[in-house]
Amino acid sequence: MKNNGNSSLASQTKNVLSKNNIKLKSSLGQNFLIDDNKQKQIINFANLTKKDTVLEIGPGIGTLSLELAKHAFKVICIEQDKLVADILESRIEENSINNIEIINEDALKVDFPKFNKVVSNLPYQISSPITFKLLDYSFDKAVLMYQKEFADRMLSTAGEKNYSRLSVMLAFRVNVEFLMNVPKECYMPKPKVNSTVVKLTPNYKYNLENKEDKQLFEYYAKIAKALFQHKNKKAENALINSRHEIGYNDKKELKKILEDIKTDKLTNYLSQRPVNLSPEEILELTKLLKDFILI
Ligand code: SAH
Repeated sequence: MKNNGNSSLASQTKNVLSKNNIKLKSSLGQNFLIDDNKQKQIINFANLTKKDTVLEIGPGIGTLSLELAKHAFKVICIEQDKLVADILESRIEENSINNIEIINEDALKVDFPKFNKVVSNLPYQISSPITFKLLDYSFDKAVLMYQKEFADRMLSTAGEKNYSRLSVMLAFRVNVEFLMNVPKECYMPKPKVNSTVVKLTPNYKYNLENKEDKQLFEYYAKIAKALFQHKNKKAENALINSRHEIGYNDKKELKKILEDIKTDKLTNYLSQRPVNLSPEEILELTKLLKDFILI
């Protein structure tokens, strides 16, 4: 059956898959969106104009891409699977679309071309590294679908159950907002997990071009890593137990340094549990400790 653009996403997807006789790879997170409403909502969240260049990671057979192309100046799709990329290519041709570029590569391994928005139903197994990779680029906003549990960690603030190193690492780079949940029934084949769409807006609290900011952010990352390896212990014990993350082998040496530099402020932070320290407090703690971080 020819896709006339009116049939539902579910039947279009079924047709495309059976026509190409393709065996989907769960190792690449190949679950395709088949819910017309969710597709529309995701496109709307991006507020596209004909000036936007959109980056899409893991386009699959183009469920979002073909629609994005109607509203944006250009869409750049990075798809790792050659078979899937070929299907996308032929659908682009069938629909006479001329503003989609496909890059058939692993998105973790290529440099991204210039873009100002990101819209993607991300392959779940690369959620963390691809998010951090995106943060090295400057852009206006990203509308991203993640596994719900991952999004919950992105969205949590201090004291909440899902507050984590991920929440802390994102805080100074982007604002994270919840947009909507997407149940697993909205995909073909149906995955084991539900999804959540979030919006990331860079907050530019850090200028990574600035050497001092960059250094401080690296220290902040190390302190956060050490703290969240023991997020329910007191911060002092967490740091001492994970001392290798900040360059110490000798427990006594770090203990003595923390004793020597103790101020009321430092004592206050160190007596709390990492789960209760806000990103701002972890940054303050980093500033107090930065001269003693050895790596
Ligand atoms: N966005 C589409 C498809 C989601 S499935 C939709 O909503 O329907 C995820 C897609 O990401 C698959 O096509 C898979 O082949 C691709 N993919 C997985 N890992 C990737 C990687 N590292 N780089 C680029 N694409 C990847």
